[in-house]
Amino acid sequence: MDNCLFCRIVNKEIPADIVFENDSVMAFLDIHPTNKGHTLIVSKEHFENLAETEDSVASELMIVARRIAPEIVKAVGAEGFNLITNNGSAAGQVVMHTHLHVIPRFSDDGFKHWASKEVSKEEMAEIKNKIVSFLKE
Ligand code: 5GP
Ligand code: ZN
Repeated sequence: MDNCLFCRIVNKEIPADIVFENDSVMAFLDIHPTNKGHTLIVSKEHFENLAETEDSVASELMIVARRIAPEIVKAVGAEGFNLITNNGSAAGQVVMHTHLHVIPRFSDDGFKHWASKEVSKEEMAEIKNKIVSFLKE
């Protein structure tokens, strides 16, 4: 897509610190890193988000994440990493082109996981039943 930021990075119209590239995906450093080494793995083809992404490309994104995340961790002297995707603006997605975030983690970096909410056993069962039936459609 002409006006998509990540398509423009993939097409090398906009510079980025590219760390990995193959036929279907590219990985480059996030310009506003949560921690040093924060890397984005994007599809080369334009898909709006992970849910819209073709299976083979979604698989490749995960394969590349597994391959490069430990090297990113080593490069910045981190102790672990989070692998995140924001799917949809309610989830915090700003760039509407499929990408995974690899965020290197340090034990004292202050990055907080989300809090939990109370959901009744009945509602849990209802949600589970809906998901299972939607998957059968
Ligand atoms: P989202 O919220 O859509 O999951 O994340 C988009 C990410 O893209 C953000 O973490 C943001 O810092 C990063 N980003 C936005 N513009 C640019 C850019 O021009 N270059 C690079 N390398 N990263 C960008
Ligand atoms: Zn795009």
